Amino acid sequence: MIEKNQNYEVEITDMGYEGEGIAKINGYTTFIKGAIKGEKVKIKILKANKDYGFAKLIELLNKSESREEPICPQFGQCGGCSLQHMNYDSQLLYKLEMVKNTLKKSLGYEPEISNITGMGIPSHYRNKAQYPVIDNKIGFYADRSHRLVENKECYIQNELTDKLAKDAFEIIKKHGITTYDEKSGKGTLRHIVTRIGINTGEYMLTIVTNDKNIKNKDAIISDLTKLYPDITSIIQNINKEDTNVILGDECITLYGKDYIVDRLGDYKFKISPLSFYQVNPTQTEVLYNIAKKYADLTGEETVFDLYSGIGTISIFISDKAKKVYGVEVVKPAVKDAIENAEMNEVRNVEFIAGETEKVVPEMYKKGTKADVVFVDPPRKGCDEKLLQTIIEIKAKKVVYVSCNPATLARDLKTLTENNYEIKNIELVDMFPQTKHVETIALLKMK
Ligand code: SAH
Repeated sequence: MIEKNQNYEVEITDMGYEGEGIAKINGYTTFIKGAIKGEKVKIKILKANKDYGFAKLIELLNKSESREEPICPQFGQCGGCSLQHMNYDSQLLYKLEMVKNTLKKSLGYEPEISNITGMGIPSHYRNKAQYPVIDNKIGFYADRSHRLVENKECYIQNELTDKLAKDAFEIIKKHGITTYDEKSGKGTLRHIVTRIGINTGEYMLTIVTNDKNIKNKDAIISDLTKLYPDITSIIQNINKEDTNVILGDECITLYGKDYIVDRLGDYKFKISPLSFYQVNPTQTEVLYNIAKKYADLTGEETVFDLYSGIGTISIFISDKAKKVYGVEVVKPAVKDAIENAEMNEVRNVEFIAGETEKVVPEMYKKGTKADVVFVDPPRKGCDEKLLQTIIEIKAKKVVYVSCNPATLARDLKTLTENNYEIKNIELVDMFPQTKHVETIALLKMK
């Protein structure tokens, strides 16, 4: 029987969804963080459940050719980059395998994935960072926990705003602002959030606080703008709730503009603090161009862009469509989308605030259908009711953009069982060094 604290020598035969190695000990599945497929390793069992267990890597007996020394000293502790111990080509292969296996389990066969587009330089690509602050320290959360891993320098964040966050934290601390404590609900500062338009250089700092009043506000802003005279925007966000959600509903502009602007392709986009915007704009352009190519619009089509955020896909494809309807639940994002259409002088798009699963059936009842539907849902995937409406509408094409292979697999199963066939699937690595991957699929009505 496998028990805690036992040591074994095993061969890693597979890898899991978290980037961990998997070995079988007489058929017993064991997950080993930091081990790579093909390696022989010595492990110590940390936890033994009935059917599977977790073990610690103690010694590498033979090393995979994929192995690389992680750049970040916090690798293995921080919950962010779980693949930094693998070279970039191997990371891409890992993601390809993972998506293939996930889709195969759900569809019953292995669909062909035509390509994965990696990044030229897979570092410092993120335009947004959310830093928790706990016990007068700033960093990131450890994997699946609210334990803080202190961070001096992050390898995947934009360098300017990574430094800004740490400087801002020191300034705020210096002026006597305390960090929030989740257990007692005491203390003021909860998170520091940064965002930058990588293609415009505009950047924003958001200070998330437990209270509207923060002492020495003017002195803090003065110190911040002295150090960062070209900062575009400083926002205070108020979050009084006992919650894991980082941002509250209320934003106060403390300095500069209420938003920043970024550019993607030929278009400019206004981004407010509460709106979603893809975190890797370089790869987002690649993704949107694939989406546009998949849709292959002629200018005659009515298009739905569902989960439209600040209207990026709608606007990006608008020159090839007759009419685009974007649907998004976050109201400030819809406001951004409407203003983005105006700013780019795009007149054939319309944005509707609400949940796709409610809005789209209502639109259909009133006679509005789409020839082509784009969906780009959050991790939980598309609501069943939305999928059923897409099927009823008989949209000729569905372009599915997904950040979660598991829910994509589930939704592709529904669509392929209801008169749609998969024509193409490819991956875009929007999140190098991490376990995450973006998949894009083209479906056509049979
Ligand atoms: N297509 C956009 C945004 C994709 S992220 C882009 O590429 O930038 C997913 C978006 O779905 C987020 O903006 C989120 O606010 C929104 N969302 C989440 N659940 C929703 C729902 N049920 N109905 C409509 N929008 C939803």
